[in-house]
Amino acid sequence: MSDPIPFNRPAISGNELGYIEEAIALGQLSADGAFTRRCEALLQERGGIPRVLMTASGTAALEMAALLCDVGPGDEVIMPSFTFVSTASAFVRNGATPVFVDVRDDTLNLDERLVAEAVTPNTRAIVAVHYAGVACEMDALAEAASNAHIRLIEDAAHGIDATYRGRELGSLGDLGIYSFHETKNVICGEGGALCINDPALVERAEILRDKGTNRQKFLRGEVDKYSWVDLGSSFGAGEIPCAFLFAQLEAAANLTRDRRARAHGYRERLAPLEAAGLLRLPFAPPAARDNAHAFFVRARSGDERDALMAWLRAAKISSVSHYVPLHSSVMGEKVGRPFGELPVTDAAAACLLRLPMFPGLTEAQVDRVSDEIARFYARVSDR
Ligand SMILES: *Cc1c(COP(=O)(O)O)cnc(C)c1O
Repeated sequence: MSDPIPFNRPAISGNELGYIEEAIALGQLSADGAFTRRCEALLQERGGIPRVLMTASGTAALEMAALLCDVGPGDEVIMPSFTFVSTASAFVRNGATPVFVDVRDDTLNLDERLVAEAVTPNTRAIVAVHYAGVACEMDALAEAASNAHIRLIEDAAHGIDATYRGRELGSLGDLGIYSFHETKNVICGEGGALCINDPALVERAEILRDKGTNRQKFLRGEVDKYSWVDLGSSFGAGEIPCAFLFAQLEAAANLTRDRRARAHGYRERLAPLEAAGLLRLPFAPPAARDNAHAFFVRARSGDERDALMAWLRAAKISSVSHYVPLHSSVMGEKVGRPFGELPVTDAAAACLLRLPMFPGLTEAQVDRVSDEIARFYARVSDR
């Protein structure tokens, strides 16, 4: 019997331990040391981003974004329901109401035509989630945000090393966030970053990350002691995860290349099943160069998806569904509001199955997963 194939396995790119030793030798392990600054400089340069702040997680970066948007009770924030919890919880924490808008059937990203309709006088921000590293229609979303004089935030948790019209995801909204959780493309266990593309937000962002103190001003010699000036939190990342992450960021192109090669393999092997109308494969429009963050199939029904998942499990292959839509979650029903029916979201949540995808996945493993899927459909269509 063949070995199990995991859904994800954290990839090591080479220099992680060396940089961790260096961080220890440097003698500062708390936030905002040498590796924090090296990660920030690298992200700023690659994305043309005015200021990046390293955070303890993508969730922490989203919470900072929500604070910087100054949302509160009575304010609405437009976002997909087809996303991870943190996209919404960051804003709900401040009392805002998430307004869940349906996604496009091709990319599973916010449907920009519905977004324009969902804007009300209470709307304060739009959160664009680049699902699986495929860019949202940012031009249309930016236009909707600018027409309504509201903020555009990118949840680019999946989006490092992917572009929209040649520009890095995370660099396009007023604010953007990355996640370096071990399930993402570039990792450090738990970690994240806030991309600040509106320079007017930089000073307050630095204060919020430093527990609401003006410590950065103190470090720059602009005040003679630092004190409590705003309501922040301990959002920063320690130096050990940043040292690990710096190695990964330097190797990002290789990590993405490996994922793209595996995605290409899946696509080649599964294309005949898509052509036969048995399943659907991921789609990225020409403006969106994705990073192969996730590879998934969409079955024709929820029952068929569940049966395929069980079939793969029996062959010791892990696959996972995505997401329980936020508008039908316990908390989402309590604090959010769906913008009409969300048929595409409901169908995607029922029918989507993510396949194993990580840089160390082998071509042979991609073949084995694809063969099992083909065997499953051969049985289904024999009936
Ligand atoms: C992973 C993820 C987050 C949260 O990132 P963490 O680093 O795990 O806090 C937010 N949004 C989306 C879409 C994600 O996939």
